[in-house]
Amino acid sequence: MSGRYLVTGGAGFVGSHLVLALLRAGASVTVLDDLTTGHEAAVPEGARLLRGSVADAGTVERAFADGPYEAVFHFASLTLVGESMREPVRYMAENFAGAATLVQACVTHGVNRVVISSTANLFAEPERMPIDEDEAVIPGSPYGESKAMLERLLYWADRIHGVRGACLRYFNAAGADPEGEAGEDHRPETHLIPIVLDAAAGRRDPLTVFGDDYPTPDGTCIRDYIHVADLAAAHLAVLEPLRSRSVRYNLGTGKGHSVREVIAASEQVTGLKVPYTIGKRREGDPAVLVAASRRITDELGWRPRYADLATIVGHAWAWRQAHPKGYG
Ligand code: UDP
Repeated sequence: MSGRYLVTGGAGFVGSHLVLALLRAGASVTVLDDLTTGHEAAVPEGARLLRGSVADAGTVERAFADGPYEAVFHFASLTLVGESMREPVRYMAENFAGAATLVQACVTHGVNRVVISSTANLFAEPERMPIDEDEAVIPGSPYGESKAMLERLLYWADRIHGVRGACLRYFNAAGADPEGEAGEDHRPETHLIPIVLDAAAGRRDPLTVFGDDYPTPDGTCIRDYIHVADLAAAHLAVLEPLRSRSVRYNLGTGKGHSVREVIAASEQVTGLKVPYTIGKRREGDPAVLVAASRRITDELGWRPRYADLATIVGHAWAWRQAHPKGYG
């Protein structure tokens, strides 16, 4: 792979793993990140970091001066469903403003391939499970709505300007770089697997399981955990079709795991008991979310390499053990 790529949000969890994949494939990378949630130390060595907001046109112009870019990957956004339920206007305004500024710069600078992070939160009322790309988009929160707005922005950028867009709807991104060079470090951490592992290690209070009265076999919510390295690989896989057309794919393993199954897998991987209590349901949590990823497999040959839950938890554990304070 040759040429330079722009990655906004490249200091974040999924973004930093994509930067690693790009560098390992031989590409050059510029990261644009304001470091409000990302970590400078998460930007892999070899990438150039530009600090600033993707919603600021002047900053984005400076980032494009580092081009020309083969393609742009857009991760920088607000990402917390719960927070978006409290600050809906901020979520929609900031996420849309960032994408709009970036896509406008792509048009101006003749960059015709854009990949954006989208989400399973587009599907609050799925008719079928697993959820495929034909499912109606009914966002579950202002966060999901902001991603739906980005998908529409890309639709019109393609129709009018010929900018091809890939909308990648991640289900539950998890795990860590299999070679141990990157991992997950959100502050505060809200995601199940890192919370379970830190609770097991005694680095935080016991886990609260958000409800055990769901209509699932063990009463806890079921999610489709997808390895972050598999997500990164999917970003590379869409670059070729983007030369001629826009695409949208749901990215998961096709297999769901309950919260109790995640606890059991973590106990097996770590050899430690996971202390937990059962709490109330968390607002906005659907009982089951599982992706049908057949389309990207059929069209591009992508399939998850690390689909096994114990492998995903194992990589997350290895990174956390090596970095008990995360990125410091
Ligand atoms: N969860 C939980 N306790 C926690 C965090 C998460 O029981 O402290 C559950 C949550 O209700 C959901 C699953 O774990 O069913 C995954 O949650 P996470 O926040 O990791 O991802 P989400 O599905 O919200 O994207």
